Amino acid sequence: MKKNLHVGKSDIHGKGIFCSTDIKKGEHIAFISGTLKRFKSKSSNEASSIPTWYGINKSTWIDPGKGIFSFFNHSCDPNTAIIGTKKVVARRDIPAGTELTFDYSFTDADINWTLSDSCTCGSKNCRKIIRSIQNLSPATVKAHYPLIPKYFLNLYIKSRPDVIIDEWKNKKLV
Ligand SMILES: [Zn+2]
Repeated sequence: MKKNLHVGKSDIHGKGIFCSTDIKKGEHIAFISGTLKRFKSKSSNEASSIPTWYGINKSTWIDPGKGIFSFFNHSCDPNTAIIGTKKVVARRDIPAGTELTFDYSFTDADINWTLSDSCTCGSKNCRKIIRSIQNLSPATVKAHYPLIPKYFLNLYIKSRPDVIIDEWKNKKLV
């Protein structure tokens, strides 16, 4: 169940979250914790002024404050994903000592938002400019499926009627 996480120096950005033990693909790592906030930005400046908050839906967020989840770094090829609203699970086997990452676009529905620095995660599919889920290519969303928060997957499907979703229809949303 809950893993022993700690904050350490990150190769991606500042500090990051690490686990001192091996994690198996699919394992539940933690729940994002913090304070619930209501917020809807009116401009890109306002959207960018928000630190690491985790979207629950368009206007509800979890603010991790100064807790460990304020150090959760983005990667375009992350080793974890958030499902439901705040459950963090492993997308693949993660050896002890590896930095945990997730893809910020999957918990952000704010079309005004762009990650302030362009991404330097170094993954093969790095998108450089990180924006809300509506901007993701179908290939990216399919690569993460089914480990996508339910609200955000539904939002993507609704906002992108151009995307063929036949292969998703019969699968159970997590
Ligand atoms: Zn990247």
